[in-house]
Amino acid sequence: GADTDTLLQTRDLRKQFGGLTATDDVDFGVAEGELRCLIGPNGAGKSTFLNLITGQLEPTDGAIYYDGWEITDLSSHERVDRGISMKFQVPSIYPGLTVRENLRVPLQQVADPSEFDERIAIAVDRFGLADHVDESSSALSHGQQQRLEIAMAMTLEPKLMLLDEPVAGLSLEETEEIADLLRTINDEDDVAFIVIEHDIDFVESIADRVTVLHQGDIFTEGTIESVRNDPDVRRIYLGE
Ligand code: ADP
Ligand code: MG
Repeated sequence: GADTDTLLQTRDLRKQFGGLTATDDVDFGVAEGELRCLIGPNGAGKSTFLNLITGQLEPTDGAIYYDGWEITDLSSHERVDRGISMKFQVPSIYPGLTVRENLRVPLQQVADPSEFDERIAIAVDRFGLADHVDESSSALSHGQQQRLEIAMAMTLEPKLMLLDEPVAGLSLEETEEIADLLRTINDEDDVAFIVIEHDIDFVESIADRVTVLHQGDIFTEGTIESVRNDPDVRRIYLGE
């Protein structure tokens, strides 16, 4: 089996869209409690790769192992039950519902209704939404909506959280809030992350290690310093 501290491992994971190879036999591993960033030029295959891990997409070939088990053929729902949680590029909160009502949606999957009020109080306090609990979520700022979505994902007590461009379109202040939040969750709850992000300062502020994807495969992996100073990485971003 896998190393005891390996949480997620892919083996020869492949995804083709017709003749296009979006994920090209990828062997990718993340340790328990690690905060990994996934970077790479547009079209490198980052979103496709995360969607294979969540089960939103079915691989053409290869395998995915998680927490000691093969999950390649499990449904998205079964993966969520095992602790894999995803926050998508487009916020998936319910704009017609209040903050409280949004938080009830994932709570219904994991808690007894008698616990809802207390769980919601803890969550809004932790995620800086206590003053907005009975406001419509459509009235929240973009940054508050992102925090609500992370709060909803955390309700399911994940061991691995996948985020696709969580700070795209946010102000610098909001970006720093999200960075603090991810680091805190990573430290206190021991949640591992795979975060796709273009903002390299954000990546530097959160990541333990960085994986660079290029043309569907791992181009290089390492610390942010080593990746940032790698002339070959600069070259692929410039499309040379
Ligand atoms: P990234 O997130 O790194 O920008 P994507 O994973 O979105 O890259 O896309 C990787 C490649 O796969 C691109 O060439 C893209 O056009 C292609 N692709 C992604 N999704 C689909 C799809 N559903 N059907 C066909 N091609 C797709
Ligand atoms: Mg993408």
